[in-house]
Amino acid sequence: MEYIRDIHARARKEGRPVLSIEFFPPKTEKGEDTLMRRTLPGLVRLGPDYCSVTYGAGGGTRESTLRIVREIHETHGLVGMAHLTCVGSTRESLRRYLDEARDSGIRNILALRGDPPGGTGEFRPVEGGFEYSYQLAELIRSYGCFSIGAAGFPEGHIACREGREVDWGHLRSKVEAGVEFILTQLFFDNRDYFAFRDHVNGKLGLDVPLCPGVLPILSGRQIRRFATLCGASIPPQMAEALERYGEDDEAVAAYGVEHATRQCRDLLDAGVPGLHFYCLNRVGSTARVVENLGLVPGECSPDSIAFRS
Ligand code: FAD
Repeated sequence: MEYIRDIHARARKEGRPVLSIEFFPPKTEKGEDTLMRRTLPGLVRLGPDYCSVTYGAGGGTRESTLRIVREIHETHGLVGMAHLTCVGSTRESLRRYLDEARDSGIRNILALRGDPPGGTGEFRPVEGGFEYSYQLAELIRSYGCFSIGAAGFPEGHIACREGREVDWGHLRSKVEAGVEFILTQLFFDNRDYFAFRDHVNGKLGLDVPLCPGVLPILSGRQIRRFATLCGASIPPQMAEALERYGEDDEAVAAYGVEHATRQCRDLLDAGVPGLHFYCLNRVGSTARVVENLGLVPGECSPDSIAFRS
């Protein structure tokens, strides 16, 4: 399996963005079957450089993360990345997960701290576990066989009371621990990403790709819940549109495609190193955005745009 750091190096030379798509392990066998037979073929057509699979905050989906990453590689030829969090895990249990990842041929891990159970409140490490994601990155680096990514927050991490620049400053410990690329939390106003990039790549001088996380909205209720949980703001114009479309999810999804297309165009024009899509296990909206951008291999949309490095 190819290392994501090598994918970035190659894409940089070719002057193109790295396209990645994130999904979560379904909770049921039927859901997994749908993912494998219907969703993934639709995603493969988009020619992503890699796909990443989330790690459940608890319960049974943890085991499926590694299995799905392995399967998408074997069945669909996709480079995969497994997410891993520190929640509820000791160093020994994290080591067991990493041993299994290594032995399954997985070569890319997203090192995360994870959220407190329920998504809110204070994070408390378990005895013998880690408090911060950089400590997990150090452990992963000690294996010597993984390319390591981590999370970044253009609006600042929700729990960082000292403000976003202090939170951004903590990326230094991640990079020093071996993190080679950053995927950002979803955001809707590109000015937040540009301020983040200017600070991290510019002021702090951290030479690491900062790939914007893009979520084509599928439903008003869902996005309000996500935004509350992860601290992303909904710009006033978007809030108005969501109010106008109400429970009409079809209209909201069409608006989501339009907004995400505009957002990505602006980001590509500004030379971002990649685009990371939160597809929420649905192909439709993400596919439409990638098509609108003219990024599907062998296909060219009428309004396709050239990537400027
Ligand atoms: P950390 O980097 O540990 O940061 C947590 C807090 O500690 C922040 O407030 C930060 O400012 C502070 N901090 C960091 N380093 C230091 C330091 N050296 N000293 C002092 N303070 C520090 N969650 C899941 O459960 N499963 C997933 O699969 C998952 N995938 C994700 C994918 C992406 C792309 C993103 C952006 C998030 C994902 N999350 C996932 C959510 C993530 O786990 C949470 O946002 C979590 O609250 C923060 O994780 P982190 O790795 O950034 O934590």
